[in-house]
Amino acid sequence: MSRTIIVSNRLPTKAHRTEEGLHFTPSEGGLATGLGSIYRADGNIWVGWPGLEVEDPEEQHAVTEELRNDSMAPVFLSQEEIQNFYEGFSNETLWPTFHYFSQYAVYEQSYWEAYVSVNEKFCRAILALAGPEDTIWVHDYQLLLLPQMLRQARPDSSIGFFLHIPFPSHELIRVLPWSKQLLEGMLGADLIGFHTYGYMRHFLSSVAQIIGYPSQNGLIEAGQRSVLVDAFPMGIDYDKYAQVAESPEARESEELYREATGDARVILSIDRLDYTKGIAERLRAYEQMLQLYPEWRERVTLLMLVVPSRDQVEKYKELKVEVDELVGRINSQYRTISWTPIQYFYRSFPLEHLSGLYRLAEVALVTPMRDGMNLVAKEFVASKGDQAGVLILSERAGAARELSDAIIINPTDTRELAEAMHEALVMPEDEQRLRMSNMQALVSQYNVYQWVKLFMDRLAYIKIKQQTLA
Ligand code: UDP
Repeated sequence: MSRTIIVSNRLPTKAHRTEEGLHFTPSEGGLATGLGSIYRADGNIWVGWPGLEVEDPEEQHAVTEELRNDSMAPVFLSQEEIQNFYEGFSNETLWPTFHYFSQYAVYEQSYWEAYVSVNEKFCRAILALAGPEDTIWVHDYQLLLLPQMLRQARPDSSIGFFLHIPFPSHELIRVLPWSKQLLEGMLGADLIGFHTYGYMRHFLSSVAQIIGYPSQNGLIEAGQRSVLVDAFPMGIDYDKYAQVAESPEARESEELYREATGDARVILSIDRLDYTKGIAERLRAYEQMLQLYPEWRERVTLLMLVVPSRDQVEKYKELKVEVDELVGRINSQYRTISWTPIQYFYRSFPLEHLSGLYRLAEVALVTPMRDGMNLVAKEFVASKGDQAGVLILSERAGAARELSDAIIINPTDTRELAEAMHEALVMPEDEQRLRMSNMQALVSQYNVYQWVKLFMDRLAYIKIKQQTLA
């Protein structure tokens, strides 16, 4: 019987070492929920790194056994691999390049070599588990070379690849010294999925310009094989967010934060600490809003959650200092004895608290410089139930292609963003409800289960089509 092998850099479960021994917790996130329904079924399996350095063979054995019970198989990474493959090539080379921050990209041969060898390591782990009949679905930018490596070993396998971050213009891709190898790596798949048609077009033009393969209607003629490219905007588990938002825990946490913010209207901002998220630009726009519309002083609070992320990477350390300083300066300049303009939290929150905050907020600010999709925008919409609320969304988030009822802004235009905050705060409730219910209809229909189904159906389709083309 054929199974599906899901592969991503991180497993949906994280291993921790505690004084009592190994401890396992679920990693949050849309991918784990969306694929949870398929990887536990029918002998399917998820392959990835368990998020912990484990060198001792006995401990590796214990981790492997524990994960096996939950349909997962670990790929262990050494400290050096974590540094060079994960923090290095993945997060200091590919991440900035694909998000149009090439000026932050590091081009380091040792990072590249580690990237190749870790992709090979994943390949060996999969080949040890998967039979020729199995479908393999590879995820994201850490594993761009893997589809081709798998293809060489298993020429007839069904291999899908999905990229969760943007795919930039070929002008940025060609700057990478390894651009050709990376594109060829992806082309080992039968189906390559992106969040938007824009990313898909950039990929097709990179393949045409850098490798020279033509395409028609998303079908690339890659030598002897045809590869299909398509857009699949990822959704969320809508019902889960809608239900948690109605739970007593979410209502309690809403009350807790309401007490802290008093009568002030709440603008919410939630992201990982990342230069792609536009956090500093958002703070400057909020300050400008307080200058342009002084009537909002003492009547509005920016509740800003920043989740620690990649804190070993230099650029992230610098951004943390910048954000801390901006928050400190704005708060000290505008605060009064009874009002703090920005309530700033630097930590991660459990789902019930996030849900309480989504309920509480009248305005959500999702203003990244670049973002593959942005799930926070969709979670805010799903959490609103029959409440009003306004989403301010960057035109450079993948989610903006779908959520056209948000106030769409250019995040580098500080003035436009400041005006959008004012516009959101004065928007009539009828209009808020109309826009919100339109967005809810869309987010609930194209949920994460639908996303998985569309991708898998399309993969089955191209396998059949390849035979008629051959
Ligand atoms: N999130 C979380 N804990 C927090 C804040 C956020 O688990 O304290 C989740 C949030 O609910 C969302 C994810 O982190 O599902 C962020 O996904 P998004 O696509 O917005 O951005 P990414 O971090 O993947 O770039």
